[in-house]
Amino acid sequence: MLSYVNNKFCSLEKAQISVNDRGYQFGDAVYEVIYYKNCKFLDLEGHLKRLRISMSRIDFQLKYSDSAIITIMKRLVTENNIKHGSIYIQVSRGEYSRDHSYFNMPLKPILVILTKKIKEDFKTIIPGIKVYTTFDTRWNNPDIKTTQLLPNVLAKTKGIKNGFGEALFLDKNSYITEGSSSNFWILNKSNILVTRSLDGKILAGITRDSILNCAKNKNIKVEEKKISFDNIKNCKEAFITSASSFVTPVIQVDNIKINNGKVGEFSNLLRKTYLELND
Ligand code: PMP
Repeated sequence: MLSYVNNKFCSLEKAQISVNDRGYQFGDAVYEVIYYKNCKFLDLEGHLKRLRISMSRIDFQLKYSDSAIITIMKRLVTENNIKHGSIYIQVSRGEYSRDHSYFNMPLKPILVILTKKIKEDFKTIIPGIKVYTTFDTRWNNPDIKTTQLLPNVLAKTKGIKNGFGEALFLDKNSYITEGSSSNFWILNKSNILVTRSLDGKILAGITRDSILNCAKNKNIKVEEKKISFDNIKNCKEAFITSASSFVTPVIQVDNIKINNGKVGEFSNLLRKTYLELND
């Protein structure tokens, strides 16, 4: 696989990053995951925009324009012969002798772009997943897409080990914040879509944004507000969204069955619509 590591093209086997890279030592790095379907990057503009926002939130800039990044991505998917897959972009603050403070360090941000090939096109109809809830132990800025993902990694792994497709984080008042790598939504009894607002406690998902636009275009009512267990008990359907899961139906939260444990029509339709929009 051709990759782009440490600001240059190289094969994945030969790629090298210094052990003094601040991303490696401190999680001092930001990232994006972009899906590639039928030779098209999904929600590309939104992801590149958020990458800049993440960098500015943690106080560094990358001297590559968006079009330079896109040119690299295009070369990678072409040379790696990818039709469907994903692209991982990571930018760390740079490399220097280890010290917590980066003040006055002569740092040059390090860009990494990796591709992953997926054999088949993404399925429109999929089984729903069961999810479990756990307290949100992340730092106070989960709205910044940094590589500091240990609480997410632990929560997701514990879930997978126990047969759950995702972990949902709970804030201190037991409202859902978001999934370990996704945003969470319900369709309530009044056919209103509900997802948490961008109150700093969740990541501004790019797929979330696309679904919001999709709902507006189809005249579906949306409310951006906190979701409680009572809301979940009374909802018609639930699903998660992310660049890698698109729209994935949720059929159970802890021991609460949603739609009698069956994938709902609305979630199915929304997934299909999102994937077809991007065909
Ligand atoms: N929240 C978290 C914590 C995530 O890691 C992700 C996936 N990156 C999302 C939400 C969904 O974001 P997006 O739709 O941009 O993939």
